[in-house]
Amino acid sequence: MEKCICCKRDFDEAKVLPIVEKGTDCYYNEEDLSGNYICKHCLKVSEDYGQCDICSEEVVYHESDLEYSGGEQYCSEHISETEMDEEEDWDDYIEKINKD
Ligand SMILES: [Zn+2]
Ligand SMILES: [Zn+2]
Repeated sequence: MEKCICCKRDFDEAKVLPIVEKGTDCYYNEEDLSGNYICKHCLKVSEDYGQCDICSEEVVYHESDLEYSGGEQYCSEHISETEMDEEEDWDDYIEKINKD
């Protein structure tokens, strides 16, 4: 059983997600974990914690370590990937204009 940091209730390990240390750019291994957990319900409504849309690992970041792009949240490491995508879209857009 793991205790949720928000509602302080005990949950089965499958129903909680591990929270990484504050200031983590991107989850790398277990050393990045803070040892705290949050249940999936609290995560949904939480304004303090969130997940990166690209990270495949089921870990939770502090909101201050996440950045928004296109309505989704990303960790510091992955936000640069989304910015690259936007640049590619912009090139397509310019190409289209030049064709007309
Ligand atoms: Zn909870
Ligand atoms: Zn990420």
